[in-house]
Amino acid sequence: MAGVEEQVSEQVTPNGSAGGREPFAVINPATGAVTAHVPHLSPEEVHELAVKGRQAQPGWNALGFDGRARIFLRAQKWLLDNRERVIETIQSETGKTYEDALLAEISYGAAAFGFWAKNAPKYLADERVHSSNLLVKGKKLVVRFKPLGLIGVIGPWNYPLTNSFGDCIPAMAAGNSVILKPSEITPLTSLLMGEMLRECGMPEHVYQVATGLGDTGAALIDEVDMIMFTGSTATGKKVAVEAAKNLTPVSLELGGKDPLIVLSDADVERAANTAVFASMQNSGQTCISIERVFVEEPVYDEFVGKVREKVSALRQGVPAGPGSVDVGAMTFPKQVDIVERHVNDAVEHGAKTLTGGHRVEGAGDFFEPTVLVDVTPDMACMTEETFGPTLPIVKVRDQEEAIRLANQGPYGLSGSVFSKDVARGEAVARRLDTGAVCVNDAIINYVALELPMGGAKESGLGTRHAAGGIRKYTQSQSILVSRLHGKKDPHMFPYTEKMTTRLGKLFGFLYGRGKRE
Ligand code: NDP
Repeated sequence: MAGVEEQVSEQVTPNGSAGGREPFAVINPATGAVTAHVPHLSPEEVHELAVKGRQAQPGWNALGFDGRARIFLRAQKWLLDNRERVIETIQSETGKTYEDALLAEISYGAAAFGFWAKNAPKYLADERVHSSNLLVKGKKLVVRFKPLGLIGVIGPWNYPLTNSFGDCIPAMAAGNSVILKPSEITPLTSLLMGEMLRECGMPEHVYQVATGLGDTGAALIDEVDMIMFTGSTATGKKVAVEAAKNLTPVSLELGGKDPLIVLSDADVERAANTAVFASMQNSGQTCISIERVFVEEPVYDEFVGKVREKVSALRQGVPAGPGSVDVGAMTFPKQVDIVERHVNDAVEHGAKTLTGGHRVEGAGDFFEPTVLVDVTPDMACMTEETFGPTLPIVKVRDQEEAIRLANQGPYGLSGSVFSKDVARGEAVARRLDTGAVCVNDAIINYVALELPMGGAKESGLGTRHAAGGIRKYTQSQSILVSRLHGKKDPHMFPYTEKMTTRLGKLFGFLYGRGKRE
């Protein structure tokens, strides 16, 4: 990984220094080996990046949608042509499986470049508006969207490409420059994306990476025109408070505790396959992982039997090439402690582990894929975000109890409902207090970039994807152009009794007619 270290000093440290701060090590969580050392940028260095980003932005914006799309489409191809190298880099800092890197990161990045290249002009086109108010009749009314300038993206460690770099794509498509602060655990993919963009002709300093710890992220908030944050709810609240000091807009994609409901008329085999995949994929470290399952009594035993069998069959270990293992390492060592605490707490309070239940001893950070039954709604594994390969299952009397329990707690990111009667499934889905929901499915809604993705309750503020996912990186400007007019309009000075009476009659005519209840 010497190449990564060279790239780090070239791209990140403006003066080849890191403000006298010690670089920090990036560790492969599957093996415990040190992968690279990365600078810890000081607030002054973040400021230097911000100055350069602001200088680069007008030229980038002047390229227009077509000029930017050309670079994005080159990057799309680069990502596919160099996918083995990108996957290796992602694996070296996350410990995830080849498939989790290919299917949930490379494919997302490649799709996102094409999607925003094509749709940015559509979502950000001027909108002509027509008003029913007679006072503005004949005037031209337009809403336009102009880039905010410099966007700060702060990302988590679970998806260094999808959830950190992925948000930079629409921000740049809108004509902004971007500074990305990746998680200290996983900065290497973000740096490699810088190399990709340079090779694809991206002008200097439009995309910059500020490696560092939490204080580097905090410094970034004070430098930018908007913050896109993905991470835990606790840190998201701190980011919102810091941003509020300058009224800097924020978009927050935060934690979740997603429920999956299995109704008595569900296809139990599909529900079990989906529950196992959506809870264990990426070692359970996906914001929209299934973290709680509620099963109606008549199909509970069948569902639990299938889940136990499928989870027991999962192969876990140090990931290598395609098909080598199903479940990889956990990326953040402290997260293993959280998973262990939740499982131990559940067992101490009467829950049973049907399979798994333990941290894997030895090099690397692994927790066994774990199925928990006899859990109660007050246990930590049911109330706090676990973010690991666990699946607690609860038997419920009926759909009403399932909905009530699913809606408990502070989170509301996503959820799933299984029923062969899709109308019933959708009716139940609509009653979940979540920003997204699937019927007879889970997780896959994230790849539909036309569908807004965002959390309800304490799972977030704002959305990514679709029109809202790019308009948030712009300032909307409402324009009124008066073309055909006299020297003076009736509502202007001086006020006269005659004109005021006429206008009063006009308002009565406009808004006072018609029957009402
Ligand atoms: P954290 O909240 O710990 O960190 C997120 C990012 O914020 C990191 O880059 C971190 O830097 C940085 N940071 C830490 N403190 C501050 C601060 N005071 N000001 C500014 N930035 C700061 O989250 P994790 O990295 O642990 O990510 C896991 C969490 O992310 C999970 O809870 C998960 O649910 C959530 N998530 C949500 C998603 C969604 O779309 N809703 C998607 C993916 C994850 P450093 O790492 O250097 O401390």
